[in-house]
Amino acid sequence: RVKRRGGQGYAFFDQALEAEIRSRNRVRRDFVRALDERAIVLHYQPQVDLENGHVHGAEVLVRWQDGDALVPPAGFIDEVESDTVLACELGRSVLERAAAQLEQWLDTGEDLRLSVNIGLRHLSSSQFPHDIARVIERHPQVLGRLSLEITERAALNNPERARRHLEWAAAQGVPAHLDDFGTAYASLEWLQTLPIAGIKLDVKFVRGILEHSHNLAIATSMSVLASLEGMQLVAEGIESRAEQDILLDLGITLGQGYHFSPALPAGDFIQWRHRRATTLSATHPRVPFQD
Ligand code: C2E
Ligand code: MG
Ligand code: MG
Ligand code: MG
Repeated sequence: RVKRRGGQGYAFFDQALEAEIRSRNRVRRDFVRALDERAIVLHYQPQVDLENGHVHGAEVLVRWQDGDALVPPAGFIDEVESDTVLACELGRSVLERAAAQLEQWLDTGEDLRLSVNIGLRHLSSSQFPHDIARVIERHPQVLGRLSLEITERAALNNPERARRHLEWAAAQGVPAHLDDFGTAYASLEWLQTLPIAGIKLDVKFVRGILEHSHNLAIATSMSVLASLEGMQLVAEGIESRAEQDILLDLGITLGQGYHFSPALPAGDFIQWRHRRATTLSATHPRVPFQD
């Protein structure tokens, strides 16, 4: 701790630092309570077959229901992911609740898949295989329909452990996609190191794909890379029919984005899916979805 006798400058620094630490501790304490009280809620963003418009499944995205406010991950996820205990608690809770929800949907005849975001700290922790094993034991039906998205908010500090855990999960029937690929830490090297079934093409590269030739170039090379590596490529952030079409031209057949729907609470998601199925069959089962 910086000593106060250093004068105004130090005192200022000291106060700012103290304020920051106080606010961090508050986020942590509040987050643990929010998890316990189910104030951390799961929303579902539809993932759509870009060729025919059918709903393939959803990505699970958390929000913090804080009174009337619905706080998006930007307001807390960095804080949570920088703390191994919190990251593991979140990961375990989301996996368990997503699998329970998926099982319930499968029981009622819905043909769906779910994709869950997992932070690197959780993936690299010794707890991770136990959490996956528990989910499989409690919800065996979800096997083959549950996948992971590995998000990279920090450099990969234990690549060997992460690799072993991913290999093991894939062997159990829970494959992983690399999220936010190319936006921060996740590098081409990760594709060599980690057993990965697919890549998510980030919002950043999809946005402006019609206007910026470098975004088109990146999407094109990712598509080539994915197909050469035998990986699936999933586009996120599709906001218009024109973007959907250009991605389809690149051979990308699965995507999500506000053009289809934002992430929705479970009940709304199923309603949306049913409305959409009705619209699709009213037009023609194999014709691409028209707005
Ligand atoms: P992500 O996994 O890359 O999720 C995609 C983000 O893009 C989501 O933001 C989604 O709402 C947003 N998005 C979807 N469609 C569009 C679109 O058409 N246009 C634009 N501009 N954005 C779109 P969200 O829900 O705020 O999540 C942000 C990030 O928080 C996620 O990025 C993920 O890294 C993290 N996150 C969310 N849920 C979890 C979780 O359960 N666990 C962990 N570890 N991280 C999570
Ligand atoms: Mg994701
Ligand atoms: Mg993503
Ligand atoms: Mg992203």
